Amino acid sequence: MKGNNFCTGGIFLKLMDLLTISDIVRQKRVLAVTISNFKVDVSEDSINCNCVSNRQYMTEIKLLNIVNPQAICFCDCTCKSFMFEYANTIHKNNGLIYPDRYPDLAAKNKHNFGCKHIIKFAQYIYHRSTLIKREVNKK
Ligand SMILES: [Zn+2]
Repeated sequence: MKGNNFCTGGIFLKLMDLLTISDIVRQKRVLAVTISNFKVDVSEDSINCNCVSNRQYMTEIKLLNIVNPQAICFCDCTCKSFMFEYANTIHKNNGLIYPDRYPDLAAKNKHNFGCKHIIKFAQYIYHRSTLIKREVNKK
């Protein structure tokens, strides 16, 4: 598998871009992340999922209309790794929920994956897609 799996199908970030990690060391770090306070807020045009990861970071993934690997998504995490390493890459894939929070993106490093919290949360959401779809259908 290629290391760089961002932007698999066009210019937008998709949920599947966040689901797979080829690097074993990263995989272990992702496994250790804890998710709490999971909430889903369904609005007219998006499904907003948020949680607290490792009891300290606000992690958010916003999906457009559907929950499946092809869903276009946007994300944010309040950890330093997201700000300094990943925001730039994710912005290039039009995937930031709050681009205004990251004013000096060009000066930041560019890594090919989201922070471990985003990856863990993407997997968490994907494994609960049936439950989330039920929430969506209630609206
Ligand atoms: Zn993070």
